[in-house]
Amino acid sequence: MFGIQLRRTPTPNANGHPPANGTYRNGNDHLIHLHTVDKVFQTAAGPFRALHQVNLEVDRGEFVAVIGKSGSGKSTLINMVTGIDRPTAGQVFVGDTPVHTLGESQLAVWRGRNVGIIFQFFQLLPTLTIVENVMLPMDFGGIGTNRERQERAMHLLAQMEMADHAHKLPSAVSGGQQQRVAIARALANDPPILVADEPTGNLDSRTADTVFALFAGLVAEGKTILMVTHDRDLARRATRTVIIADGEIIEEQLAHVFPDLTEDQLVRTTREIDLQKYPAGAEIIHAGAAADRFYLVTKGTVEVVVPTDQGGEVVATRLERGQYFGEIELLRGGPNLATIRAAATGEAEVAAMDREAFLALVAESTGTRQALEHIAQSRLAENAAYRVRNGHA
Ligand code: ADP
Ligand code: MG
Repeated sequence: MFGIQLRRTPTPNANGHPPANGTYRNGNDHLIHLHTVDKVFQTAAGPFRALHQVNLEVDRGEFVAVIGKSGSGKSTLINMVTGIDRPTAGQVFVGDTPVHTLGESQLAVWRGRNVGIIFQFFQLLPTLTIVENVMLPMDFGGIGTNRERQERAMHLLAQMEMADHAHKLPSAVSGGQQQRVAIARALANDPPILVADEPTGNLDSRTADTVFALFAGLVAEGKTILMVTHDRDLARRATRTVIIADGEIIEEQLAHVFPDLTEDQLVRTTREIDLQKYPAGAEIIHAGAAADRFYLVTKGTVEVVVPTDQGGEVVATRLERGQYFGEIELLRGGPNLATIRAAATGEAEVAAMDREAFLALVAESTGTRQALEHIAQSRLAENAAYRVRNGHA
């Protein structure tokens, strides 16, 4: 994205660059991957669990907003990604790097090259000028000559429309301007990932808006951004929202599909569901068998298969991530109406919930029941039309 590129010695494992075979050493192609992460703080009052069994996968180029109440664990979560904090249990991979295993000095080197960090209170060094602040990460990284560092810092400041202020001290400019400088500093070493902890939390809403727009522009240019925010309106403009409550991540699709559920209901429901993976073509439920679960597609595609008069079968419809099945049977009673399989094209993952939990949720949330009923009715109508078109009774 920048006109001025710095010479840097290639590291064998440089993160953030596409893996040669499409897969990182950690066995997947997610740029960021937290696996069953727990974080327990020792406090005067005893151990405090700030993160519980957190799984999170972020792909290259995603703009992820992390939201949740104050104290829910947002900062603790993103500090796992930057290595500012260390998990009590579980693993944190960023590209090929197992961040949870790095020692302090390795971490500092790794972080300097791979992650740009932006804080709520900017954290610029007050005795250095603005351009010196932006040069600092390059100085630490020993990247380029002094002149190259200065040129690049000026270039980044120009992009943030701060070049005119380069030789002032941070205290001489506004909060919004200081945050632009902090973003320029975070970009100094051209890291593939930016992590921001409430970057707009100390800005008025118009300034927050322009800072957010800068982030969106960086994502468009290929950066991956993980941003904690209090502002739900801003969060909606990210490509993805992760909700955290009491140290647990709420199943994203659940929050998306059932917007009427309260945060408490989402937390409880997340605990009730069971994530199940099915290889391509594998059957999930069988037509005519007893119906006892509700399913939400969380990854991949599933096929709804119905029998034909000729004794064969045909794929009536496909359901993608964020669509669900099994609700008609649980709401109306009766056996499974169709056979449902993972599509032949690849693995599918579903979140499954037992009948009792599903019915309790529906009884509790009128909005959710209405949404489910609405879908159920249109599906039954579709099925009837389908049967007529295909000559079934
Ligand atoms: P958020 O960023 O969502 O406001 P945090 O991740 O900062 O929340 O904190 C989550 C919980 O962990 C809070 O209850 C907080 O008090 C606690 N916590 C955070 N850091 C520490 C620490 N170093 N020692 C003890 N408790 C901590
Ligand atoms: Mg915080």
